[in-house]
Amino acid sequence: MTIALRTLLDRSVKKMGKGMNPVVKASALEMVERAYTEGIAVQISAGHRSMEEQAELYGRGRAYSYNGKNYSNVAKSIVTNAKPGQSYHNYGLAIDFFIVSDDGKRAIWTVDSKWQRVAAIGKDLGFKWGGDWSSFKDYPHLEMTGGLSFTQLQAGKEPHLPFKLEKMEMPKTCKGDSLVISIQKTLNSRYKTNIEGDGDYGPETRSALIKGLQTELNQQYNKKLVVDGKWGPKTKSATVALKKGAAGNITWILQAALYMKGFNPGALDGDFGGNTESALFQYQKASKISADNIAGQETWNDLLA
Ligand SMILES: [Zn+2]
Repeated sequence: MTIALRTLLDRSVKKMGKGMNPVVKASALEMVERAYTEGIAVQISAGHRSMEEQAELYGRGRAYSYNGKNYSNVAKSIVTNAKPGQSYHNYGLAIDFFIVSDDGKRAIWTVDSKWQRVAAIGKDLGFKWGGDWSSFKDYPHLEMTGGLSFTQLQAGKEPHLPFKLEKMEMPKTCKGDSLVISIQKTLNSRYKTNIEGDGDYGPETRSALIKGLQTELNQQYNKKLVVDGKWGPKTKSATVALKKGAAGNITWILQAALYMKGFNPGALDGDFGGNTESALFQYQKASKISADNIAGQETWNDLLA
C-alpha cells in the first residue's frame, strides 16, 4: 500500500467530526488501523451528524422543486429513512466506512471480501453492522448503541459502551516528524532548553517537557520545584489536573506529550478541546490507567516518568 496509515486516520478523524462518543471514535480508528495491518485501506466517511444535517439528509429524495409549471424531484432517490433524532449518527454513536484503493485516491464501494473483513473487525470491536440488518441493509454503517433507544438518548441518557482495545499497541512518532521538530523548537525558545530539533522523541525532549512543566507549575501555582527536567515524586505531586476547557502552556505540554506518544490531540494550541480529550482518552485506555478524560497525577506520571 502506498497510502500511509496516518493519512487514513487523519481523514477519518476529520470526517467523523466533533461530537463523537470517545469509545466509538477510538474503536473506529482502531478498526482502520487493524484493517491496515491486514493490507486493507479503509476510511471513515461519516460519524456525528447534527439534527440539522439529519433533516437535510432525510429531505433528500423527498424534496420537490417548482419550476413555475410543475413540481419535480430534486434528488432521484431517498438516502435515509431516519428522521432527525432517529439515527445513532445524531448521538455520535455510529460511523460509516468505505474501502479506498491502495494509493488512497479512489473510493471503492463494492461489498466484497475486504468489505466483509472490515465489518468483521468492527463487530469484533463491539459494533453492530448495518449489513446484518434484515430489512434495509446499510453496508457502510456501524453503530454502538449501548442498548439505548432514541427516546432514552434524547432524554440525555449516556450509553455504557464496551471498550475492546486491550491489545492496542502504542503507536510511536518517527524520527524527522515535523510536528515534533516544532515542539522541540518551542521548548527551546520558551524554556531555554537546548535540544536538537531532529524530530526524534527521545530522553532529551522528554526532559525538556518536564522542565517546561516544572517552570509552569512554579510560575502559575507557586510551587517550589527544582527545574531539573527530572521526573520525581515532588514534581508528580505538584502536577495539576487538566480537563476539557483548560487552556494555557500546561495544556500545551500535555498535548505535546500525548503527540509524542503517538496520540494526536489535533492542533497543538494549548486549548483542551474535544480532540485533546479524545487523544487523552485513547492514551489512558491504551496505557491501562483510569480513562476518565482528566489528565491527573496518574496520567502525568505515565506520560513523563
Ligand atoms: Zn450510517
